[in-house]
Amino acid sequence: MNSKILIIYTGGTIGMVQDANGSLHPFAMERIYDAVPLLHRANYEIDSCQLSNIIDSSNMKPSFWRDIAEIIEREYDNYTGFVVLHGTDTMAYTASALSFVFENLSKPIVLTGSQLPLGMLRSDGRENIICALEIAAQQNVHVPEVCIFFESRLYRGNRSTKVSAENFDAFTSFNYPSLAKAGISITFKPHLIMTTPTDPLLVRKEFDSHIAVLKLFPGITPEVVSAVLSAEGLKGVVLETYGSGNAPTEPWFLDLLNDAQQRGIVILDVTQCKAGAVKLKQYAASLDLDRIGVIGGHDITIEAAVTKMMYLLGNYADRPELVRQLMEQSLRGELTMPNN
Ligand code: ASP
Repeated sequence: MNSKILIIYTGGTIGMVQDANGSLHPFAMERIYDAVPLLHRANYEIDSCQLSNIIDSSNMKPSFWRDIAEIIEREYDNYTGFVVLHGTDTMAYTASALSFVFENLSKPIVLTGSQLPLGMLRSDGRENIICALEIAAQQNVHVPEVCIFFESRLYRGNRSTKVSAENFDAFTSFNYPSLAKAGISITFKPHLIMTTPTDPLLVRKEFDSHIAVLKLFPGITPEVVSAVLSAEGLKGVVLETYGSGNAPTEPWFLDLLNDAQQRGIVILDVTQCKAGAVKLKQYAASLDLDRIGVIGGHDITIEAAVTKMMYLLGNYADRPELVRQLMEQSLRGELTMPNN
């Protein structure tokens, strides 16, 4: 049986046109077929749909994640796989968010986009779309994951980060190898890809965005830390620390964190380093964080940390202990547990 893929267009450079002043604005899906007429010759069926609001992905927010998730949930049984066309700016956030939404995912959801609009001669979009479709349509190697395909590499979505605003290889995954490489043929690395689950799909699409990212820097003041931690309604903080999870040991800093923790705010320690992991207690400078009850984020990306926290707070609001427990575990391959 032929594969059948649903393209979900959300916006981004890939489908943008230039206005008279040279600024880029999103336009409608049909133009994508004009730009890639070869799509009509693919040996799999393609349907497409678009969000009711086509956006530059800098306007991305949880309500759009829910919209994308609802389309996939509704169409899940009708397609072999899904390709989401998305702006590159927040693609890694959306890929991470969707990975948490779908538990027991047994079909590929591949996000892609481009650095140059499809209508431009040198656009990287054609290659990216065609490879993303091929991966989603694969019948031999199955990729039951939310992924990002960009410039010849397939990455686990919740391990990906945008690293360049101008190169075609805009994404990378520092702490997990790519899942496939596209050359003359697409070479998959099956041992790195999730196994297909047998349990039925579970979809949880609530996100609570009452969280903050607090990035440490030498000289950060009590006023700033206190302002963030006392934000009204705050439920969680992703604390971007140094190195293997280290932070100042000054009493004012620890007191503020301790106070937030006592008020039930979940604090996750994520390193500012691109590669490597948080190892609480490795240095004296993280002993106090551990003592206070700050959770170690291991080698999670900032994108996965933010979306995971929103997802857990959104879906398990009445079970704070479970939120803390799940925060520390790998739910969808987003982090490497220390004994792995
Ligand atoms: N600003 C654009 C977006 O993220 C950039 C891109 O698509 O590459 O929607």
